[in-house]
Amino acid sequence: MVEYRYLGNSGLKVSEITYGNWVTHASQIDDAGAIATVHAALDAGITTFDTADTYANTAAEVVLGKALAGQRRASLEIFTKVYFPTGPKGPNDTGLSRKHILESIDGSLQRLGTDYVDLYQAHRYDYETPLEETMQAFADVVRAGKALYIGVSEWTAEQLRDGAALAQQLHVPFISNQPQYSMLWRVIEEKVVPASEELGISQIVWSPMAQGVLSGKYLPGQPVPAGSRATDEKSGAHFIKRFLHDDVLAAVQRLTPIAADCGLTMPQLAIAWVLQNRNVAAALVGASRPEQIASNVAASGVTLDADVMAAIDAALGDVVERDPQNTYEVSPKSRLV
Ligand code: NDP
Repeated sequence: MVEYRYLGNSGLKVSEITYGNWVTHASQIDDAGAIATVHAALDAGITTFDTADTYANTAAEVVLGKALAGQRRASLEIFTKVYFPTGPKGPNDTGLSRKHILESIDGSLQRLGTDYVDLYQAHRYDYETPLEETMQAFADVVRAGKALYIGVSEWTAEQLRDGAALAQQLHVPFISNQPQYSMLWRVIEEKVVPASEELGISQIVWSPMAQGVLSGKYLPGQPVPAGSRATDEKSGAHFIKRFLHDDVLAAVQRLTPIAADCGLTMPQLAIAWVLQNRNVAAALVGASRPEQIASNVAASGVTLDADVMAAIDAALGDVVERDPQNTYEVSPKSRLV
């Protein structure tokens, strides 16, 4: 069963394997499949679920709400996000203005079928809204009882420091950052993680399996497997492209004997790897089928020895991305509309 970790310096525990529904719910998989996958996650002891208003242009929140209906609310941690454009995409349907935050939280709660979310996250940094306005709006969401804690996603070390200083003045618990992190994408290690450790902020890391690439099922020089994310032209295929290069895929194949020696599947090795970092509170995994979740959760509680970690680095060589500048590079510099 899944183990639990504290989120930041708070008393909130999250399941160290957390389930997210980006590009799957209301898009790649039908509602019956989505509900079965969420139930497999619950059966495996996952209590923490992540979504965003922008996923499937709000429809993913509705599906997650349906899938969790009837569960005991206090036994779940439900996370959502605000920033990217939603709905009819008017000038204020985007960003981290007071208007967009205060309107968005109500929409998310209604779609999720809950009175509060456990964590409300700024999906990106908004370069067009004063940070004071954003943090005050988040504080008001917390004081209204609509969110218990606040977090952010893909903020730089400096942005985390500025946000944490304001959160402290406003007495609101700012406890998490949600960045991309995997064996292949390690850009948070140099700056974001040390700053977060100082600030009492945890990472909830997305795409720990590099969207499925670290499962080893994508082979160099071969067509992508039928039914995989890379075939989902509606959405997923666009995002996974960044990893589908023969040098990356060949390096990933070199991990196969390492996983076997550890008695792990490749997805389990990928998830266990991110959990070795103690600033990571949760590996935020996706799944297109219940069987994936049921098998992947065995990564919880696994310790990888130093020689295994070194063998992974040697196998991957120079396909690993480490440049901290890429934390910044992947974030939009102005609001999208
Ligand atoms: P993963 O790296 O965990 O990829 C999940 C995908 O890998 C599955 O949907 C499935 O795709 C494949 N997979 C999973 N298990 C197996 C297995 N055992 N064997 C073979 N293939 C497998 O994470 P995601 O990219 O899905 O991201 C996870 C979550 O992170 C999102 O749902 C969202 O909550 C969050 N996120 C946050 C972002 C942000 O900006 N804050 C950005 C992106 C994601 P398939 O079967 O279709 O090939």
